[in-house]
Amino acid sequence: MGLSRKEFLLSSAGLFAMAGGLNRNVFTKFAPAATFNGTRMSILYDSSKCIGCEMCEKACMKENNLHQEEKPEELSKTCWTAIKTTKNGNGQDLFLKQQCMHCTDASCTSVCPTGAAEHHGEYVVIDQDVCIGCGYCEEACPFSVPHRGHPPVAAQKCTFCFDRISSGSMPACAEACPIGATTYGARTDLVATANNKIQNLTKLGWTEAQLYGESELGGLGVMYILLKPPAFYGLPEKPRQATKNVLSQWTSGSLTAAVLIAPFWYLYKRISEKDKQSIKQKEGIK
Ligand code: SF4
Ligand code: SF4
Ligand code: SF4
Repeated sequence: MGLSRKEFLLSSAGLFAMAGGLNRNVFTKFAPAATFNGTRMSILYDSSKCIGCEMCEKACMKENNLHQEEKPEELSKTCWTAIKTTKNGNGQDLFLKQQCMHCTDASCTSVCPTGAAEHHGEYVVIDQDVCIGCGYCEEACPFSVPHRGHPPVAAQKCTFCFDRISSGSMPACAEACPIGATTYGARTDLVATANNKIQNLTKLGWTEAQLYGESELGGLGVMYILLKPPAFYGLPEKPRQATKNVLSQWTSGSLTAAVLIAPFWYLYKRISEKDKQSIKQKEGIK
């Protein structure tokens, strides 16, 4: 069984990390936000409310000094949140706000060999001074969030507006949303709000409405109220942390490499033996 590029990168990253790499606790630039006070803060995005106005996208770009010439459709190095539109069966537009989900069991932090991608309190940040642009996080993230651009440089993504929340403000995207589709608050409150909303949506005929992110990957820092199953929006139904099977991937990779190299090694040995014999014959040695 061969290794895909993704599997190879993840395996290599896992080994590097296991072998020591750099001490990721060394980097303490992003202190946990003071406003947390022991309460986990999160973002709740209600897709049933969103009108696709893209004010959140614009606010994020302004806040983070990002520049994009055309309207972003997907996340990129210069687009940290993007509204994705999917047509429902009856032609209705359903929206999804894409951004870093700030996973508790984050794949990016697990595979990062330098400790640049790291949790700081409830949020995950990629330290631009420490990132070496290897792309492991890009490959590992189940939501395809980090991007290095072309040519590849340090990976970029949503920072959860850590500087704003550290000083008691809310993330710029939540503040900009004109109808409260993106909200920020204590996680327990947001989960209760979401469950009430889903009950109401079910009564209104949205029988597939559900909360995404409450328990996925240990709990996502960004939760979604979805009207349809996750796959409808292109979200993984059961996202998994990338390093969970690194060892088995590496074992599989090593076996594959051994199988591929064996014939060449045999050929090399045969040629070497023949060369030795011909030298001995020339020198008259038996
Ligand atoms: S969504 Fe991707 S980039 Fe964001 S914390 Fe999770 S694994 Fe990391
Ligand atoms: S939390 Fe901040 S960085 Fe992240 S998408 Fe919202 S505005 Fe952008
Ligand atoms: S600002 Fe609010 S309503 Fe507008 S696209 Fe963003 S989440 Fe949706």
